[in-house]
Amino acid sequence: MRISDILRVKGERVVTVSPEADVTELLAVLAEHKIGAVIVSRDGDRVDGIVSERDIVRALAARGAAVLTEPVATIHTTDVRSVTRDAVLDEVERLMTERRFRHVPVIEDGSLRGVVSIGDVVKFRIDELEHERSSLEEYITGERA
Ligand code: AMP
Repeated sequence: MRISDILRVKGERVVTVSPEADVTELLAVLAEHKIGAVIVSRDGDRVDGIVSERDIVRALAARGAAVLTEPVATIHTTDVRSVTRDAVLDEVERLMTERRFRHVPVIEDGSLRGVVSIGDVVKFRIDELEHERSSLEEYITGERA
């Protein structure tokens, strides 16, 4: 299973936010799209960073409500780990487990092509297991499910 298989199903649409937007605007974007992280990008194509709900929680705990009027650039992560469409699912799972993050952007020739979340990975693994289970059942019983 490759990342391109996931993107084929979920699509390549990516929500981005400008580094100059303030944290209150960021909260509105997360709430509107029902997501936990946003790619930070000046032009909507190149990745300048990533910011997740955890960054907001940490900044609020450290500096209080003043954070809400600060630009996203004060709390985002700039050293972003990404994969290409050709990457296999195991590679993304390893990255998420070892680095302890739940979102990985897909970048091709410097351009943003999608985002894979831990939810996408879990969904694809469950579908894969379900498919294997029905194939085995069919093999053993000789009956189609
Ligand atoms: P998450 O688990 O995705 O909510 O993110 C946890 C922390 O890792 C936050 O500080 C994020 O900014 C950061 N983070 C999330 N995804 C990535 C990524 N692909 N590369 C680097 N840092 C990330």
